[in-house]
Amino acid sequence: MADDCCRYRENTLIARGGGVFDSTGSISVPVYRSATYTHNTLDYDPNAYYYSRCDTPTRRALEKQVAALEHGEDALAVTSGLAALDIVMKLFSQGDRVLISSDLYGGSYRLFNEVYSKYGIVFEYADTWDLEDVKAKAKGGIKGIIVETPSNPMLRISDIRAISEIAKEEGALLIVDNTFLSPLFQKPIDLGADIVIHSATKYLAGHNDVLAGIIVTATKELREKLYFYVMSIGNALSPDDAWLTIRGIETLSVRLQRQQDNAKELLKFLKNHPAVEFVIYPGDPEHPEHELAKRQQTGFGAMISFVVKDKDRAPEFFGKFKTIYQAGSLGGVQSLINLPNSSLQCPIPLEQRLHTGVSDGLFRLSVGIEDVEDLKDDILQALS
Ligand SMILES: *Cc1c(COP(=O)(O)O)cnc(C)c1O
Repeated sequence: MADDCCRYRENTLIARGGGVFDSTGSISVPVYRSATYTHNTLDYDPNAYYYSRCDTPTRRALEKQVAALEHGEDALAVTSGLAALDIVMKLFSQGDRVLISSDLYGGSYRLFNEVYSKYGIVFEYADTWDLEDVKAKAKGGIKGIIVETPSNPMLRISDIRAISEIAKEEGALLIVDNTFLSPLFQKPIDLGADIVIHSATKYLAGHNDVLAGIIVTATKELREKLYFYVMSIGNALSPDDAWLTIRGIETLSVRLQRQQDNAKELLKFLKNHPAVEFVIYPGDPEHPEHELAKRQQTGFGAMISFVVKDKDRAPEFFGKFKTIYQAGSLGGVQSLINLPNSSLQCPIPLEQRLHTGVSDGLFRLSVGIEDVEDLKDDILQALS
């Protein structure tokens, strides 16, 4: 497995999944459900399996697979994207200041401000797409910077390399939430990030059928620190869910390419729709960070946000979608739509939402792999 990353090009690496893992020659990684493993010696072997809260062969295959795709040193698979952020938060202590992107997944905000702030960690929000704001807020000392790029739901793009330099000067860890692009379209560790986290529930697994999170580290030392928390706490991913995630990743490149093709078509379609005020997509030359996205990413992804002119009619439009499911989550093969201001973003204070531009007329669309003409037909009837 580990050798695969050096020998194979990206699409080959993705298709090979977990690789051949055991002596049977099975090309699908087996699901090892055993909770415990037998040993006839008390000598500790760091490569052996002991107990499934610590390690399982199936989970290990997933961790190696994603670490290779992200150009990281190693990874940890946990029960959800928020569990991944929760484990990363264990690196901080009372009194530490952590800088976070002001536009972000509502659940992440809730974890920071309603859980970890109780333990004395101080969270400061910065418009991380504006380096001056990052520099200004970093003054006074910070221990970490958590960047979501593209951000949810406004799809702002932050300059990972430039922020990693600020983080280094401060002696702070740079953590990037790479959920919206997947390693296929962005490799934050190559740009200076220390840790990459994923809600693998989204693009990595890709089928809206499993909840999973991944933490990829740039160094062995960071992985060791984080592993200590995962095995002490017990939120490692189950073998069955690890298998589903491995299976999902095998088709990542074809899914995401098709989703992106559909998104580019829908960008043009939505921009010309009379009910739409404006569309947000990093692949649009009018997007404020389009040039940065072109430089930093190898694709623009398949998330589109748009604002309708008649905000009062947004709930009515929302109710009319038929092909596109009205559901939270994103990244799967089925297109999903939601109104962030009425759901996902609720944990974030209104003032902060107004600041980043999250309004009542804003829709967030996760574009799937359907026939794009069916998606256009659905949008046409829903926005009429
Ligand atoms: C969904 C999501 C999360 C949380 O992941 P879960 O798997 O739902 O716990 C974190 N960050 C981003 C950007 C997400 O979209």
